[in-house]
Formats: sequence, C-alpha cells, structure tokens
Amino acid sequence: MPEAMVASSASEATSGGTTQQVDVAVVGAGFAGLYLLHRLRKAGFTALVLEEAGDVGGTWYWNRYPGARCDIQTIDYSYTFDPELESAWKWSEKYATQPEILRYLGFVADRYDLRRDIRFGTRITQATWDQAAERWLLTTDTGASVSCRSYIMATGCLSAPKPPEIDGVKDFKGEVYFTGRWPHDEVKLAGKRVAVIGTGSSGIQSIPLIAEQAAHLTVFQRTPNFALPAHNGAAPADRAALLEGDRAGYREQARWSLAGVPWPQQMAVSWQLSDAERRERFEKAWAAGDLVYILTQLWADQAVDVDGNALLAELIREKIRAIVKDPEMAAALSPHDHPFGAKRPCLNRPNVTLVNLRQEPIRSITASGIKTDKRNFDVETIVFATGFDAMTGAIMAVHPITGRDGKSLSDVWAHGPQTYLGLTVAGFPNLFMITGPGSPSVLSNMAVSIEQHADWVVDRLIAMREAGFTTIEASETAQAGWGRHMADCSTLTLHRLANTWYTGANVPGKAWGVMPYTGGVGPYRSICNEVVNGGMLGFRLTGPNVAEQCNDGEIVRLQPDVRLVLNMLADMKLPPIESFGSQGARDFVAQFNASRPVGRPVGEVVDGTLQGTDGPLRYRLYRPATPGPHPIVVYFHGGGWVLGDEQSDDPFCRDMCRRTGMIFVSVDYRHAPEHRFPTAAEDGYAAMRWIAEHASELGGKPGPVMVAGWSAGGNIAAVTCQLARDRGGPQISGQLLVCPVTDCTFDRPSYSDNATGYFLTRSLMYWFWDLYCSPDDRTDPRVSPLRGNVENLPPAFVVTCEFDPLRDEGVAYAQALAAAGVPVEQLNARGQFHSSFTMVDVVITGVSGRVQMAEALRRFAGLPPERKHGDEGVRPGPTASPHEIAA
Ligand SMILES: Cc1cc2nc3c(=O)[nH]c(=O)nc-3n(C[C@H](O)[C@H](O)[C@H](O)COP(=O)(O)OP(=O)(O)OC[C@H]3O[C@@H](n4cnc5c(N)ncnc54)[C@H](O)[C@@H]3O)c2cc1C
Repeated sequence: MPEAMVASSASEATSGGTTQQVDVAVVGAGFAGLYLLHRLRKAGFTALVLEEAGDVGGTWYWNRYPGARCDIQTIDYSYTFDPELESAWKWSEKYATQPEILRYLGFVADRYDLRRDIRFGTRITQATWDQAAERWLLTTDTGASVSCRSYIMATGCLSAPKPPEIDGVKDFKGEVYFTGRWPHDEVKLAGKRVAVIGTGSSGIQSIPLIAEQAAHLTVFQRTPNFALPAHNGAAPADRAALLEGDRAGYREQARWSLAGVPWPQQMAVSWQLSDAERRERFEKAWAAGDLVYILTQLWADQAVDVDGNALLAELIREKIRAIVKDPEMAAALSPHDHPFGAKRPCLNRPNVTLVNLRQEPIRSITASGIKTDKRNFDVETIVFATGFDAMTGAIMAVHPITGRDGKSLSDVWAHGPQTYLGLTVAGFPNLFMITGPGSPSVLSNMAVSIEQHADWVVDRLIAMREAGFTTIEASETAQAGWGRHMADCSTLTLHRLANTWYTGANVPGKAWGVMPYTGGVGPYRSICNEVVNGGMLGFRLTGPNVAEQCNDGEIVRLQPDVRLVLNMLADMKLPPIESFGSQGARDFVAQFNASRPVGRPVGEVVDGTLQGTDGPLRYRLYRPATPGPHPIVVYFHGGGWVLGDEQSDDPFCRDMCRRTGMIFVSVDYRHAPEHRFPTAAEDGYAAMRWIAEHASELGGKPGPVMVAGWSAGGNIAAVTCQLARDRGGPQISGQLLVCPVTDCTFDRPSYSDNATGYFLTRSLMYWFWDLYCSPDDRTDPRVSPLRGNVENLPPAFVVTCEFDPLRDEGVAYAQALAAAGVPVEQLNARGQFHSSFTMVDVVITGVSGRVQMAEALRRFAGLPPERKHGDEGVRPGPTASPHEIAA
C-alpha cells in the first residue's frame, strides 16, 4: 500500500488508549518540527507532530527568561523556504527578543495551518521498532500511542535543561527558576535577593535584566565566558541591503557558507598582519556586534590555530579590563581556559557582583540560600542558568529507543553518540534526527541547518516511496567512516581543546567528544548531496517488491581540508599542467604558489649561491630564531625534476625550520628538460657536499648533515644518500623522504587507484619522467633508488600519503631499507594527498605529520624531542602514527 494511502485519521485501540497510524511522526514543534510538517504534508505523507509544550516554538516557547534573544542576526535566523513568507514578515530588531521569535513561529504555524496536525501536551516516552510491521511504535505520557513508518526526532539540541548538580536544592524554601523552563506567568523579582548560578549564554543574557529588578543579585560563576557587545537595534543597513538586493543569492550563499551566514572565507593569516592591522580588524568587529563576523572574519587562522586564536582572545580580555574597572573582577571575568569560539561566546555585558566558584565552590543549597566553602548567601530566589544536556539529552530522554534486534540506543551510545551524517543511526531503521550529534547543528545558524536536514530527509522519503522502498538504514561501515571524518574535522578546530557543552563536558558522566560536525555547513551540505548522488552511499534500502539496495562505503575518506582543496581545484577546471609545456607549467606553479599564504616567520632567511658540479646553484637558507650553531638539513624541493626552485617549498621549509630548530638549506638544482638525467641527482649530491663543507660559515654545526626532500626532491634526497655512501662522504645522519619518487614502474596499485583526481596525476608523472629521463636510463639507481643498493644508508623517515600515485613506491622503498637493516620509520598518512604536507597553511591536518617529521630529524641529529607548538593540540592528530619497519 502506498504510504500516502494510509489515512491520517486511521487509528486502532490499544490497551492504553488508541494508536494513531501515520506515515511519519515528528517529535517537536520548534523550528524543525514546523517546517517538517509543512514539507511532509506537501509531499502527500500523513504526518503528525507530537509536542510536550502547550504550543509551537520549541526553544522559544521554553526560554522566556528576561533578556532571551537570538545571537545570530534575525534576518539570517529565519526560514528561507518560501519567499512569500519572507516578505510577509518583518523583524523589528537586529537580534530579535524571545517574544518576537515566538510570535514569528506562531505566525508560520497559522500561515500554513500547522496546528491541526500537532498534538500538544504530549511527551514521547518510548519508541520501539517493529521489524515485522516495519513501523515504529511511539508511546506517550498521555496513554495514546502512535504507529508510524518513519520517526523523526526534531527534539532540539538545546531542549533538555541540565539538572543542577548541587546538594540541597529540594531544601530551599524560596523560589527556583530555570532559564530553559521559565514560567509563562510574570516572575516577580523586584526588591528580592536573587542568585543566578551560571554565566553561559542564558546567564549572561539574563543577568543585566534581573539586576535591574532585584534588590541584590549574586552571580555564581565557575567558568568565565567571552562576552561581546551586541549593539542591538535595527538590522544593519548594509546587511539588509545585501539581502534585499538579491534575496535568493544571499540565501544560497548562506547555505554554502561555513556557519550558515553569508560571510566570505578569510584568507589573510594572523602573522601576515601587523599589530595595527589586527587591531583595526578587531575594533571593526567589536563595533559591528556580530557573532559570526567576529568568529570568522578577523584572520584565517583564528579558529584553527592556537596562536592565531590567542591574539584575538587577548584583544577581548583587553576590552574586559577597560570596561571592568575593578582589576580583581576583571581578572575573574577574563576567560583563560578555552580558546575564543570553542564555547559559544555571548553578546551582552555582565555588570554585577560575582562569586568565583573556582575559589569558593558551592557546598550546598540550604533552606535560606547558598553555602560556599567560605560564606553563606541568603537569597529568596535562585535562577539556574546552568545550560542543557546538549545534542543528545532530548534524544536519550526518550527511553528506551529500541531498534532492530532489540538494540537500545542508550547502549549503542554508551560511549558517545555515533551517527551517519548526524541524521541516522545504524541499527535504527527509518529513524531520523534533525540537528543530531554529527550534524553542524549548534555550530551553525540553525535555521539554515534545520531546513537542509528537513529537506534532505523528506526528499529521501519521497524517493523511497517512488522506488518502492519501505526501510532505510545506515550501514556500520558508513557510520564508522562518519565517526572518523568527524574526528578528523574536529582536529581542524580548537573545539577539541575546551571542555564545553559541545563536548559533553558539562554533564557529569557524559562521554567526552566533539558532538557537532565542525566541517561547516556548506561542506556538510555537499556531502549529504554526494551520498544521494552516490546511490545512497552507506544506506541499506529494502521494500516488499524491490531488490534490496546497499551501496556500502564511506562517504569521506579524504581529510576535510584536503577535500576542500581538491574541490576548489576541481571547480577551477584547470587544464592538465602538462598541457602548458614546461615553461608554462613553471609559470603556473609560480603563480599558484604566490596565491598561497606566506610561511611563518623564522629567525632569518638568506639567499646565496653554492658551487655545483658545473657552476653556481642558488640556495635559500632558513635559520631558526634560536642561538646557533644549528644542525643543517639540506632540502630538495618537489616539482618532478621540471618545476620549482629554491623558494617553491618556502612554507614547508619555514615550518620545519621552526619545528626542528634546524637550518634548512633549500637548493635550486637544475631542471629538465633543459638539464636531463642525471643533472638533478648530481647537483643534489654536489650541493650537499658543498653545504657540509661550509657548515660553519653557514652558521651550522660542523659534522654530519641531514637530507630531506619532497616528491622528486625526495628522490634526489634518497639518491644523495646512496651517492654519499658510494663516493666516500660526506656523512649524512638521516634522510627525510616525503612522498618520494623511488622507482620507474607505474604498475603499483597506487598508480591506478589515484591516477586522477588528486592533483598529481598519473599522466603528469609520465610527463615528468619523459622530460627528465630517457627510458634506457630509468633503471639507474640515480633516478630509481629502489633499484640500487640500499644497505648501509642513513636512518630514514619515509612519508607516504594514501591518495598519492607515489604511495606504494614510497612504501616499497621503506620496506627495502628495512630489509637491508637500515633503521626506518614509515608514516602512511591517512586521507592525505601528494601535496598535503607542503601546503602548510592550507592543509591544517598536515600538522601532526610534520610534527612527526620534525621529531625524526631531531632524533637523527641526536637532539631530545622538544619544540612544542600550539597547533599540535593535546589530542592525537588524524594522520596515523609512524611505525618502525622491522628488518
Ligand atoms: C536561549 C537560546 C538562544 C538561541 N539562539 C540561537 C540563535 O541565535 N541562532 C541559532 O541558530 N540557534 C539558536 N539557538 C538554538 C535553537 O535551539 C535553535 O536555533 C532552534 O530553535 C532549534 O529548533 P528545533 O526545532 O530543532 O528544536 P527546539 O526548538 O528545541 O524544539 C524541540 C521541541 O521538541 C520538544 N520535545 C523534545 N523531546 C520531546 C519528547 N520526548 N516528546 C515531545 N516533545 C519533545 C520540546 O518540547 C521542544 O519544544 C538558541 C537556543 C537557546 C536555548
């Protein structure tokens, strides 16, 4: 029977009451539930919304505390699905108040006549999947139940208030309020002694207004939060004009942006800007009073790099010190324990007396007030602004949710939520979550995310109906892959460094983990679309009269930033590099490199010439800022023996110089086709010898040098080690080979697996080989070091990348070295491509690999591990750990 033919009024008696039969049951009548109901109805499904509250509104129904407002500008925090709705409603303020947002949601409910299919005052208590009937049975607190083919939890990610963890709340004789469950009747605070516990978003919003009324207000703060001025008023004219000028374009830009608000991606990184330039950008953002602006528009590394973030956090603390005259209070209000943006910052300004719970924790609540380690506070009213059991709280409150084979969701999520796309869970067919853990949800303008989730889910239900499928379920493989991708994404941001409600750290006993998807709204949308275009990748679909379909797999195997880079390159639709000819290709690469951020500052950069076999060769030397002499690394750039020069891997050399505390000397060996094999190899060896002989003059430590190189440069580094061994020196203490060319055959699997689509293509490699080396010479160890004698070579660290045609020959070289008794470690970087480690400030996930390379070089030089940099983070990075290869 087609789903649409199940009458919405169909019901049958059960022991506890009646069971209403519908195609789709939606739980929650907030932003998400309302839009879902509208779309489901339009698509011809029978749908019912169940809502615990007495009316529509969700968040905006419950959070009526004084001062409650949105923190995304209201012109952005609105539905966009119907242009007529947009013109029918005009917001009065830049950040609308709770009553106005609630009126708006009521207006939407009326306009589309939604209330007739919403059952208010009804809480879902349990949900059970009936495998035989392929339906969910929902139990409610009213006794009535609902049977549905699909069950959509639009239960909200900030809708389950966190219960207070303080002893004695029940003993308190005064009034107790929760910001997240504020009464509908007027709360009289005038002339009272009031306590507010908590200074998160709700606390900061409510404190000034409560202070206006109360005789005395005591604020109990455990963690200071970043608070910014909102400068409320009318919607800023420039933003409103942008929207009015091209409404459809503005909305579309928001859908593909990172946070769901149309601001461009910032390109300038903090160290490219002077102090004055940074301050000017900051003052502009401070004056704008726009959360997304200040979170995204100052400099490109503000949310991904500890140092870039610290510059911004300090500018905000400076503002706090200027506003709060009492230095002790200013210090207490200044956050130091989390990066700016890693908790949702608050737009407003607290200006009240403060109890610092870090210095005097609350012991208990008594009949007359609050007792800390040091004092008793007599109060008549306590307001708990202690936040929510975010993202999973409302979902887990329906207990049990029993899926296929009697699996309970609370068991499956015992160690943290696992989902596919944040929308579905393996083992729970036909269950969908809106803004669930694993979706961008709270890290975005949720109006935009909610519309995307709802559209995706309803579109899938329509497609299933058309194809005759009755069940859909995520596969374990897809879900595990999404978990990995989530973890990869979260290493890109600083959320991993803070204990927040985003990570579940605010709820005792809750598993730790970054719950929202941190990869951005636009990338998330494109992934969801790719799942569909890939034949519902990662989903199993079944139906009574159709063959089961399961196109299993992981939707994202690349590191998230690599994916962005490759998508950007694909969008540019560049002709193959080899089609430019050698000079054209060099010009292209030079232009491409110039458009990338410059590398970080080092102590000194010196250009010079050294004596090669047939004349001078240019070099560029990078000296650390620390006192010398330093160990020396002779570096060979990449470019297929054809492209590049001593400057072309500048960001990589700077980064490695900083991390290792060593001098890097990047050599401009001569290139093909003007200088064919074995020129590059011979130049490499000659340069290394000259540098070793002139180490002291260069400010380096005399004695053995190290060699390093990327791609064809890795090839030259490997060859140099063999030549140095065979020609009597000089001594080399270690070799770092990053994605090296080691052999002249093209039949290893990585050549076909990664032939196209990962920038370095198979055909580009053919072209490089043809320009550099005639077929007769290719087995010469000076170009195919894998064919040479690999005994008695210096210890090696070999890096290979999963999505690189050269991957397998790098692995083969590491194995050959190990078999010959050379100490060797190999790092196989998951999800990375050939250029990952040299695109220093674009591919942020390359950091952990470079940290490991730097550690290896320090070991080669006999130095202790040292040199911690902020961007390493406290948790392991996404690339695998290197492993020693046993001989
Ligand atoms: C104070 C505050 C300010 C915010 N400001 C912003 C902002 O500026 N921008 C932004 O993007 N986001 C903001 N948010 C996040 C906000 O939650 C979302 O923007 C949005 O309102 C969520 O809509 P929703 O429909 O997904 O969930 P909700 O609005 O939370 O609605 C979920 C509904 O489900 C109901 N429900 C839950 N469980 C059950 C059950 N078992 N049975 C029956 N009913 C149930 C709840 O009663 C609730 O009404 C804010 C949140 C808060 C708390």
